[in-house]
Amino acid sequence: MNNVQQTAYTETDAALRTRALESLLIEKGLLTTDIIDEVVQKYEQDVGPLNGAKVVARAWIDSNYKRQLLEDGTAAIAELGFGDAHGSKIVVLENTSSVHHVVVCTLCSCYPWSVLGLPPSWYKSYAYRARVVREPRAVLREFDLDLPDSVEIRVWDSNSDLRYMVLPERPAGAEDHTEEQLVALVTRDSMIGVAAIESPTE
Ligand code: FE
Repeated sequence: MNNVQQTAYTETDAALRTRALESLLIEKGLLTTDIIDEVVQKYEQDVGPLNGAKVVARAWIDSNYKRQLLEDGTAAIAELGFGDAHGSKIVVLENTSSVHHVVVCTLCSCYPWSVLGLPPSWYKSYAYRARVVREPRAVLREFDLDLPDSVEIRVWDSNSDLRYMVLPERPAGAEDHTEEQLVALVTRDSMIGVAAIESPTE
């Protein structure tokens, strides 16, 4: 647990508001509990960071795919069968030894659900949303990611139409890995930009 995670707000208020809204929509006949259960189950059980991990691993082994992914993330992600039901665009940002990207939604909690599943609670916390913009280096250090001063940090603010996903650096020591083995190395946090991928030899 780091500071940002500890200060994540308890979701009580948001949960109460959500429940009130849900009851109202059901009462007005605009939603049914079946639809809600279906969507929740889909994101809790079927869609998770594994989709994103598959995208990353493919980009690591296929330079053509990587080029497409960086040019048009939405299309390249759809090519692997993943997409955003709400039609939001996904832009993929490549981390290198000189530039590190990190993603936030300063306004609320926009997140690339179709590739990363449900957002972690710290992503929605006020502390993360406010601080990662002001002092990204310090926040990343709290996630145990201590970047040298020579690495430029770029913070990207998501919104409902445009979501970001980070393409992390392929770690050293994974040169002989198969695509499947590479998928297993990719973490959710590395695709938000708050973690690097550890070398499998460490
Ligand atoms: Fe948002």
